[in-house]
Amino acid sequence: MAVEICENFDIKNLTTFKTGGLIERVCFPKNIDEFLSIKPPYKVFGNLSNTLVSSSGYDGTIVLTSKMDNITSIGTSITAGCGVKGPKLSQFAASKGLSGLEFMIGFPGSVGGEIFMNASANGQCISDCVKSVTLFCPEKGVFKLSRDEMEFEYRKSICQRKNFIVLEVEFELSEDGTEKINDRMKKNLEFRKSHQPSLSLPNCGSIFKNPEGDSAGRLLDEVGAKSMNVGGAKVWENHANFIVNPNGGSSLDILKLMCMMKNRVKEKFEINLYPEVLYLGNRNEEEENLCKILYQK
Ligand SMILES: Cc1cc2nc3c(=O)[nH]c(=O)nc-3n(C[C@H](O)[C@H](O)[C@H](O)COP(=O)(O)OP(=O)(O)OC[C@H]3O[C@@H](n4cnc5c(N)ncnc54)[C@H](O)[C@@H]3O)c2cc1C
Repeated sequence: MAVEICENFDIKNLTTFKTGGLIERVCFPKNIDEFLSIKPPYKVFGNLSNTLVSSSGYDGTIVLTSKMDNITSIGTSITAGCGVKGPKLSQFAASKGLSGLEFMIGFPGSVGGEIFMNASANGQCISDCVKSVTLFCPEKGVFKLSRDEMEFEYRKSICQRKNFIVLEVEFELSEDGTEKINDRMKKNLEFRKSHQPSLSLPNCGSIFKNPEGDSAGRLLDEVGAKSMNVGGAKVWENHANFIVNPNGGSSLDILKLMCMMKNRVKEKFEINLYPEVLYLGNRNEEEENLCKILYQK
């Protein structure tokens, strides 16, 4: 089967911030064979829940893995395609009486994006129950790495350093009663509802990484970030490390707000916050300058 390809694709409705512009070419492979038939260069994304896309779009090819969502199990092991979303993974594991992925129930990202970032919540990270990861890069082809070889750290994996693409992930879980697992998932969801905005308020999760030994939310709270806004984007009133976009703000509004937040913390505490949210797109001069402030180490 040929890969589904869309040209001049308006990405806005697929990003969780509900911002972005036209992408020159977007490919939607359904499985590994289709993925491997796509000619590089391209950039790979999952559910765009950690990516801010420029309002002027991106001149190039991106691959969205959301249709690579096959999931199987043998005994206590589950293999998930890179496009499987957190809730589907959690619920599948629960239906098999397998524990370890309960905390993923409220994660809007894909398995590929979560491995790339080593996504975590409430003291658990996705790497905790990874057995192996099937990866791809044009120079090496398809290969497998064990959990230890993935070099997982806080919000990091080998994928960032080496540009490896996640195709499939094998998880090793432990047996437990489905009722107990469902109960833990319910508690996780309740905790999220009170600590994070739901997707009905467009957002991209935490904006900044926690600096070592501190919390970005605490620092931002202390500089009064909860009352900051630019255009249609504003800092969430319940947690200062989230930006929500209820009034159709643009990606430029969000970039400006991020800079304002970062600058205030730098001025008051001499601490540099670095974004967890990534940026994709054609950079005009204004975006280029804002990205320099935000992303340069
Ligand atoms: C409401 C909400 C709550 C959130 N809660 C949390 C949370 O509790 N903990 C947390 O850690 N994050 C959280 N996030 C952020 C986000 O969901 C995670 O960072 C997630 O891992 C991103 O996955 P994605 O598929 O959306 O990635 P995308 O935004 O599509 O991509 C992010 C990065 O991953 C790379 N990538 C994507 N797929 C692949 C692949 N197959 N192979 C290699 N690289 C790939 C992309 O190139 C990009 O650099 C939250 C976001 C929202 C909107």
